[in-house]
Amino acid sequence: MSNSSQNWIVLKFGGTSVSSQSNWQNIATILKNRLSEGYRVCLVHSALSGVSNKLEKIIGNTGNDVTEKIVDEIKKQHRDLARDLDLDADELLQEEFDELEQLARGIALLQEAGYHVQARIMALGELMSTKLGAAYLNKQGLKAVWKDARDILRSVPVKNASEKSLVLSAVCDTDEDKALQKELASESDLILTQGFIASDTDGETVVLGRGGSDVSASYFAAKLTADRLEIWTDVPGMFSSNPHEIPSARLLQQLSYAEAQEIATNGAKVLHPRCIMPARVHNIPIQIKWTQDPKQEGTTISSTVANEEALVKAISVRENVVLVSMETLGMWQQVGFLADAFQVFKRH
Ligand code: ADP
Ligand code: ASP
Ligand code: MG
Repeated sequence: MSNSSQNWIVLKFGGTSVSSQSNWQNIATILKNRLSEGYRVCLVHSALSGVSNKLEKIIGNTGNDVTEKIVDEIKKQHRDLARDLDLDADELLQEEFDELEQLARGIALLQEAGYHVQARIMALGELMSTKLGAAYLNKQGLKAVWKDARDILRSVPVKNASEKSLVLSAVCDTDEDKALQKELASESDLILTQGFIASDTDGETVVLGRGGSDVSASYFAAKLTADRLEIWTDVPGMFSSNPHEIPSARLLQQLSYAEAQEIATNGAKVLHPRCIMPARVHNIPIQIKWTQDPKQEGTTISSTVANEEALVKAISVRENVVLVSMETLGMWQQVGFLADAFQVFKRH
């Protein structure tokens, strides 16, 4: 049974990681291990692989027939996984399937979608997948309590940000939240919630930008002042280059926050560039791990790095560019940041 001195750990699983029965078996084992190590676990996960892209296509409004086809594909993908997990998607996801159909029909009819409608439809990906995830884990005897991340993560108004950026590329605060820690601890040792989604001060759904589940997980880690943030994904860690493109790429076992920030900012999709700051502010180590083979060491990102690693950590090639380097905390993926910064170079 839980006691009040137990520490939190945040585990984030990406789209590919939550899309197959074999991965879900691994996830259940990983969770059991963490719980038996004495941690309280906050599990944050993404939509099933490819679902957010499909939802974006519906928003892009490709016409009624195509929209209907995409809605059917999304439902089928959830039904197929549910069947493999011995669950009934139509029973578990009835509300979300209905909302998906209604919103998709509305967009096809009106031929447009406002930013809040876009956020609501995008949020359905994570809402659907986490409902299946919670049902599966409970079937495995893990008492996972499903929480709506929109009741926990509130976005903050960013000065000079456009309406689009406030709704589709939202930012939350990174303060520790003791009340939240107490509330979640009173509910279960295992909390399961969505990546990518939050709500604004009016309670409306917002999203954190594509790939934003990493960022959500880091916000949760900050709020819970977790001992560790584990990012579980489809590669064995952060590499010197994308291992899917450069097979000889080297695994980077240890990185400082600054090095990882640099690599993520330069395009290593494995970690969203805005994911590092919230953990870094609280000195929470980030581990990148491979869901398919949990025993592999992976990459650890922290403030203390042994000096045995190669001095050149990663290489990116860019041609015909002039590099202007500037940096402030909170600039990553912030819509309009560069436009503002380059204002001074404009001829009058
Ligand atoms: P998830 O769905 O788990 O969030 P992503 O697709 O967002 O996973 O990120 C993982 C992908 O990042 C890998 O499949 C890999 O192709 C890509 N990637 C790009 N650069 C790197 C890198 N330097 N190291 C590791 N993976 C990288
Ligand atoms: N599902 C969202 C996306 O694909 C968020 C994430 O997976 O990180 O962008
Ligand atoms: Mg990702």
